Amino acid sequence: MTNVNTYEPVIGLEVHAELLTRSKMFCACPVVDSTRAQPNTAVCPICAGMPGTLPVVNRQAVAYAIKVGLALGCRINPTSIFERKNYFYPDLPKGYQISQYQHPLAESGSLQILTCAGARRVRINRVHMEEDAGKLVHLQDDGGAAYSLVDLNRAGLPLLEIVTEPDLHSLEEMKAYAAELRAVLRVLGVNSGDMEKGVIRFEANISIRPAGSAVLGKRVEIKNLNSFRTMERAVAHEIERQTHLLQTGGIVEQETRSFDEATGETRVMRSKEDAHDYRYFPEPDLPPLVVGEDWVAEVRETLPELPSARIMRLVEQYGLDLPQAQQLAESYPVADFFEQTCSMTAMPGRTLANWITDSYFAWMNERGRLFAEGRTTPQMLAGLMDAVRTGRVNRATAQSVLFRMLDSGVDAEELIRSQGLEQVSDHDEIVAVIRAVIGEHTTEYERYRVGKVELAHWFFGQVMKRTGGKANPAMVRELLQQELEK
Ligand code: ADP
Ligand code: MG
Ligand code: ZN
Repeated sequence: MTNVNTYEPVIGLEVHAELLTRSKMFCACPVVDSTRAQPNTAVCPICAGMPGTLPVVNRQAVAYAIKVGLALGCRINPTSIFERKNYFYPDLPKGYQISQYQHPLAESGSLQILTCAGARRVRINRVHMEEDAGKLVHLQDDGGAAYSLVDLNRAGLPLLEIVTEPDLHSLEEMKAYAAELRAVLRVLGVNSGDMEKGVIRFEANISIRPAGSAVLGKRVEIKNLNSFRTMERAVAHEIERQTHLLQTGGIVEQETRSFDEATGETRVMRSKEDAHDYRYFPEPDLPPLVVGEDWVAEVRETLPELPSARIMRLVEQYGLDLPQAQQLAESYPVADFFEQTCSMTAMPGRTLANWITDSYFAWMNERGRLFAEGRTTPQMLAGLMDAVRTGRVNRATAQSVLFRMLDSGVDAEELIRSQGLEQVSDHDEIVAVIRAVIGEHTTEYERYRVGKVELAHWFFGQVMKRTGGKANPAMVRELLQQELEK
């Protein structure tokens, strides 16, 4: 008998990512935010698919594609070929999409992902270049009749298709891959990662096979998945559907399905097309794309450290724990700020990281500001860290100094001096305050003496308050204990 546990899902992802170039893939039209711009305001005869026009390849788009290929460890093919992929859709005025098929720009790479099970590499089959299609806008007239309009602002935008091998075996791995790829694209500066604007879109291919089998089952492709959440729901449903089919003696048809957000189910769009249905042939209006070794070397020079490598380095070099490192590397400017500050202070990396992810981030929340809007330089934060480390200010005071520093851009040292915020560590001064407080609160003192020991915390609070929060808390605690026991 079979049961659920005897099947294993096999998932391959095709990711479409728009490239952040200034102009489109084959014409000079500007790339506009298609969720905001007035429809059809960035269109010319080329991207509108008029006969007799000629495409010209966007050099920046190719450079970005090479960058992604290199970051994913791919071989960059010296010659790749643009081909016509023929199909009809109202948002595709030419009746074909210029894409790459048999000879893509980049092949055979991998991307490291991190899951509970540890690190592993997902193989990348290819990275190829193509152009985006326009968009259909679905509307209703006054009588409630549905109609659709075409917006071609998006038509001809440079698009990268990044295809994995069927290497992902759980929802967790799929999510880790998608998130890591998004992070890489952002760090490379080729894509904004703004998923709600549709700049990254997924297609998931799913099959099921008996666990341990090396043979691939029939796959189903789910189109048009525009968020991590949607992709996860769709794939979870599809794994369940196929498993159930196999368990009840059915067979999985190779087909293309779409996901219905409302019902949470996938349904058939069409039986799976094969490559020959598109009648690919080399684009006669474009020469083969030749990428010389020099160009590849030049792009390689511009590659930044990739997110997974940076996270590992932050852990090793600064002794951070993994979640801390992930939190910092989420945004490179934050991680850069951390590393620069760390080089200027003897404060341990872990503590400094906490100051950034707790206090600096708290300031951002409270003030509703971005990280970059904080007026503190790494040098200024390092100064504050040294003041904490050497006991010139206590933690609580330092927290408020940090907020003032972020607001004003005034140096920590100056804030501490001008506002008299130095920590009070003078023995006699602290004892005098403690005695005064005890003297004024004889009732509480008596209750403490007859066994209400929790009142020690209350006395501590009173003493701190009287010193404007500036007393050295450890000394207060110790001296208070002595005085109360006298
Ligand atoms: P197409 O271009 O027709 O969609 P590809 O051969 O490019 O087909 O494959 C698309 C994706 O499907 C790839 O990510 C690949 O890893 C994945 N894939 C191929 N076979 C299977 C399978 N049996 N199960 C799951 N995924 C698969
Ligand atoms: Mg496909
Ligand atoms: Zn155009």
